[in-house]
Amino acid sequence: MTCKQEYSGTQKKRKGNWGMKVLRLYGPEKIRLEETAIPDINEEEVLLKTEAAAICGTDVRMWQYGYKGVDDGHPLILGHEFAGRIVEAGTKVSFYKPGMRVSMQPNIGCGICERCVEGKFHLCRSYRAFGINMDGAFAEYIKIPAQALKRGNLMVLPEEIPAEEAAVVEPLSCAFNGFSKCDVKPGESAMVAGAGPIGMCHAMLLHMAGARVLVNDINENRLQYCKQIFPYIDIYCGEDLAGYVDRWTKGKGLDVAVVACPVPSVQASVLTLMNFGGRVNFFGGIPQGQEPVPVDTNLVHYRELYLTGSTRSSIAQYRKTMGFVADGLLKVGGLITNRYGIEQAYEAFENAKMGMGMKHVFVF
Ligand SMILES: [Zn+2]
Ligand SMILES: [Zn+2]
Repeated sequence: MTCKQEYSGTQKKRKGNWGMKVLRLYGPEKIRLEETAIPDINEEEVLLKTEAAAICGTDVRMWQYGYKGVDDGHPLILGHEFAGRIVEAGTKVSFYKPGMRVSMQPNIGCGICERCVEGKFHLCRSYRAFGINMDGAFAEYIKIPAQALKRGNLMVLPEEIPAEEAAVVEPLSCAFNGFSKCDVKPGESAMVAGAGPIGMCHAMLLHMAGARVLVNDINENRLQYCKQIFPYIDIYCGEDLAGYVDRWTKGKGLDVAVVACPVPSVQASVLTLMNFGGRVNFFGGIPQGQEPVPVDTNLVHYRELYLTGSTRSSIAQYRKTMGFVADGLLKVGGLITNRYGIEQAYEAFENAKMGMGMKHVFVF
C-alpha cells in the first residue's frame, strides 16, 4: 500500500477544510498572507495544528532584508518559535500520538557530524531549521519531518504550560546557552546590555542564579516597562554607564556581562566595565557589512577575562529551559505583550519592527 492510499482516509476527513492560512516570505519587504493546502504527511511524519508562534528579531530581519535562497520561485513560511497539538501521526511514527501538546526546538542537525554526535545539532554545518531554511510555523498547520522526530526536537509539553509561553521558550533556551558559559555565582554583579526580549530572558536566568542584575538600554520607556515586569532588576539609561557600573559594583566592576544588542560601540566598551576574572557573553551579532568590533586584548590579559559567544541552543538546553518554566522558576508570561490572529500579520510585523512591546505572538 502506498502512502497516498494509506492516507486517503485522513484526506477525506479533512474534506471541506483543505486550506490553511500561511505567512510566506518572497524576498526583501515581500511577505504575503496566503491560503494553501494543509500539508500531507507520509508514514514517518507528524502533522501539527499550530497553537502559538512567536515573532523573533530574525523573522523581522528576514522580512526586511530577505534571506538567501528565498525568492519569488522559492518562498518560505517563516516562524521558528512555536507550540501546537499533534493532529495526525504516520503509521511508522513511534511515541508521538494525535492529541499530544508539543513544542519544537527548531534546529535539526544531520545526525552524523562531530557536533551532532555531541548533541550540538544547533552547530551542525548542514542544520535545517523551521522558518529559516524549511517551512515554519506562521501557518495553521505544520508538517514535522521524520528527522526532527528521531532527533528529539519535538518535546511533549507539561500540561501547565500554555502554548504561547511554550513558544517563547525557544529564545529563552538560546539565552540559557549563553548563560551556561558564564559560570554565574550567587551574589555576583551581572549586566545585560539590551532590554529586548532576549535581554530579559538573560536577566531572568541571571536572577535565578542569584546574581544582582543591571539592565542597560538607550530606550528609557522600554527599561521602565522591564522594571515593572521584573522588579528585581536595576536599570540604567544614560550617558555615563561606566560611572554607574562603578558605583553599582562599589568600584569592583562587573563579574558577568551579556551583550544582547547589535551595537558595535556597546560591544567594544563592555570589556572596560569588567571585574578581574569577569565573563562576557557576546549574544547579539552585529549586522552584516559593519566593521568587526576590535577587542582590547590588554584588558583580557591583565584582568583575566573570559570572552564567550553563543548562538541558538541545543535540544537538551531547550528541554531544561522548558522545565524551568514548568516548575515556575522562570515566568515568561510577562514577555508576551501582543497577541494577533494570523490575518493581522502585517500589523504584527510592523509593531515588532518598531520595537513596540516585547514578544509578539500569533495565536491560532
Ligand atoms: Zn528566534
Ligand atoms: Zn551534523
